[in-house]
Amino acid sequence: MIKKIFAKKSLGQNFLKSKIILNEIISAGEISDDDFIIEIGPGKGALTEKILETGAKVLAIEKDSRLISLLEEKFETEIKNNQLQILEEDILEFDTGNDPPENFKNKKYKLIANIPYYITGQIFEKFLTADNQPELAVFMIQKEVCDRIVARDNKESILSISVKAYCEPKYIRKVPARFFSPTPKVDSAIIKLQNISKKTFEESDASEKDFFELVKTGFSHKRKVLISNLKEWAQKKGINLSEKFDQIGLDKKIRAEKLSVQDWISLLK
Ligand code: SAM
Repeated sequence: MIKKIFAKKSLGQNFLKSKIILNEIISAGEISDDDFIIEIGPGKGALTEKILETGAKVLAIEKDSRLISLLEEKFETEIKNNQLQILEEDILEFDTGNDPPENFKNKKYKLIANIPYYITGQIFEKFLTADNQPELAVFMIQKEVCDRIVARDNKESILSISVKAYCEPKYIRKVPARFFSPTPKVDSAIIKLQNISKKTFEESDASEKDFFELVKTGFSHKRKVLISNLKEWAQKKGINLSEKFDQIGLDKKIRAEKLSVQDWISLLK
């Protein structure tokens, strides 16, 4: 018998109750039966069930022990058939190199999840910078964060550049708060991260550390133009900024929010 489980706010538990939205996540994930999917936070299994219907294999990682027994009961058959493995673990502790399933290292996988919003940034960082990156990710996240990542207002930020350095983020759709139970205070959105790779760094020979140091310096004072923010950085590196801007065709009045990932790489070279 499935017992009633009350949602824990501290674990970001807002369960999806819209079949339409669940289907849109599946279709954004382009899931087929030979896919291997990692689901973060299966909760009560609404999304897990839809993923399993595609025939894909699923590793579902859930931190809340109360939900584990519920999931094991609900998906008894799929677990027996080895289509589903449930792991009780904090996703931030999950080791993409060593944790189950066997031979996970270098295995292709997709991440599909209605993630707990309180660790959105950490999840993005963990998987985008991992040695074994996912080939694709579809996440439900807070709408405001989604807007910033895709720069819907055409203003880039440290966040959007940090994500775009590793993939092409695509806004799929808004998901109003009423589609969840309990109803959260904010609206959500589905984001798709495609073409995930480290080619920005591999092709340019730029180190991730230098890249992010430069981007953070460039955004340090919002009201200042980029060239002012980079003054000290350039002095330390012995770079003539004015010449550099001319060389790569950047307007000297440009602000950090107008630069693309490639512009930052050009500055670094
Ligand atoms: N997938 C379900 C759905 O769509 O209805 C639940 C989504 S709910 C927004 C987030 C889920 O992540 C919850 O089940 C919560 O317990 C789980 N969770 C929270 N923090 C976690 C963590 N650090 N590691 C793994 N799961 C976590």
